[in-house]
Amino acid sequence: MSKNIWNTDLSGKVVVITGAGGVICSRFAKVVARAGAKVALLDRNRERSRSFADEIVSEGGIAQEFVCDVLDKQNCIEVAEQIRSSLGGCDILINGAGGNNPNATTDHEYLEGDIDPEVKSFFSLTEEGIRQVLDLNFLGTLIPTQVFAQQMIGKSGCCILNISSMNAYRPLTKIPAYSGAKAAVSNFTQWLAVYFSRVGIRVNAIAPGFFSTAQNATLLWNADGSPTDRTRKILDSTPMSRFGDVAELEGSLLFLLDCKASGFVTGVVIPVDGGFSAYSGV
Ligand code: NAD
Repeated sequence: MSKNIWNTDLSGKVVVITGAGGVICSRFAKVVARAGAKVALLDRNRERSRSFADEIVSEGGIAQEFVCDVLDKQNCIEVAEQIRSSLGGCDILINGAGGNNPNATTDHEYLEGDIDPEVKSFFSLTEEGIRQVLDLNFLGTLIPTQVFAQQMIGKSGCCILNISSMNAYRPLTKIPAYSGAKAAVSNFTQWLAVYFSRVGIRVNAIAPGFFSTAQNATLLWNADGSPTDRTRKILDSTPMSRFGDVAELEGSLLFLLDCKASGFVTGVVIPVDGGFSAYSGV
């Protein structure tokens, strides 16, 4: 396995990652595996997490995929026991499952004039869509923490990493539920950090800025490769004037997981955003 930028050594650690079939957390799984960790890749979708687990194993790492719905506590409990038997008790939990839902997204940034029934406005967002986003991001962080943090008590070098977002600092237009849910994740990170401080479990978060990935490519780039209006706005609001590369999350990830590097750091949310959260727009 290759070394990482910090020479972080996670050998012997069992790292449980939810949403591990996704863009960011599949990458995190590879990074922690290369640092020597035994990785449990949890996702609702087995196919994707299996392919990433297979890649890690083919590189000489230790990884196993598990089907797990982070909103189903009983399922999480069963999976936690399976992981304990096959890889060992959880040392590090990365709460990566999260996302938005079109039914919780308005078509336009502003209400201008009368309500148009043809347009998805704030007034027509469904409770179901909103609840799904709040549940996935907030309860989907809380429930795995309830289950896996129990396995950390009494051990040293344990920690939890949550994934927040730029929405948590100031809401982005169109996505009120996702913004509120990620604000809750940042707040909850601080709450948990205090709650677990006496049992030695550190709790931190990363707030990714804007990353251009295969998944959001059509939102960000026109067919001819030119930037969409949304891309222009994002880049105008990002002092470094570019999208991040998912690899640029790795330094913060390893720093926060490594108790030698960040042993006195708990309750922080690190923005990795090219300055987006610092910029007032003027
Ligand atoms: P992604 O959509 O690529 O991956 C999310 C994964 O979560 C998917 O594999 C999906 O199957 C899984 N998932 C969804 N619901 C689940 C459930 N109930 N139980 C278990 N697994 C479930 O997302 P991503 O872009 O890699 O984002 C990862 C995290 O980072 C999310 O919390 C997201 O909100 C956050 N984030 C992403 C960005 C970005 O630019 N991509 C920016 C800020 C924050």
